Amino acid sequence: MPEPRLLIDQDLRTGAEIALDEAQARHVGTVLRLDVGGILRPFNARDGEWRARVTVREKRSMRVVLESLLREATPSPDLDLLFAPVKRHATDLIVEKATELGARRIRPVVTQRTIAETVRVDRLESIAREAAEQTERFDAPEIFDAVSLVRALDGWDTTRPLIYADESGDEDGKAWGGEAGRAQPIGEALAAAKGEKLALLIGPEGGFTPDERRLLRNFTYVIPVSLGPRILRAETAVIAALSIIQSVWGDWRRA
Ligand code: SAM
Repeated sequence: MPEPRLLIDQDLRTGAEIALDEAQARHVGTVLRLDVGGILRPFNARDGEWRARVTVREKRSMRVVLESLLREATPSPDLDLLFAPVKRHATDLIVEKATELGARRIRPVVTQRTIAETVRVDRLESIAREAAEQTERFDAPEIFDAVSLVRALDGWDTTRPLIYADESGDEDGKAWGGEAGRAQPIGEALAAAKGEKLALLIGPEGGFTPDERRLLRNFTYVIPVSLGPRILRAETAVIAALSIIQSVWGDWRRA
């Protein structure tokens, strides 16, 4: 098994001795059972990934010394995920999977049908850090406080296309708005997205309201997309859309 990875915010340099914080020391000592002499791989997005050796192990603290650089850091694609928070377990899953799938920033947005649960950014950050450690990336996605959809769109950087997962049609009174006005399939829409930055927007369990849908479709930087003929749960939609984005636009393509 490869040596465990640990996201460390301090500067990483040959010979530097680093004190792990209490939670990390507990994790490395108790869960991973590393003792003095054990090897682990500290990393961050500035300094890359290092080989380090445990030099001190105490009940609540641990020190490691950096021995050599293993890999230079490479950035994640410049990809934001905006999602309407769902129930706690599903929100946790969204953050974990979005981290594995390479989102650089995660922005919870409150829409009219978002179920009112508070978003604990610190909790989501720790889920993202753990997923980043397991997934061989160099950074954990930045997680933002929840803001309203309108505020998230206010002052939007229009050079960043917003891929908007829109399952509905335009026909009032028909199931899911009928067939007229359906968005184009995500793969086709992405073939036209050539820039270096992108964002994805996934709605809440109840979907976007007609007003929100009209608002979104009015902006030139918004690209409505379909994720196929079935209605996916929000967390499935995040995973499916990010996977397609990474394979058509992002870093799943051949370098
Ligand atoms: N309109 C629905 C409702 O009223 O219950 C379903 C919302 S769906 C559970 C949650 C979100 O996932 C949607 O807002 C949309 O962003 C995305 N989504 C799910 N299935 C989709 C599809 N087939 N095409 C595009 N987006 C989809």
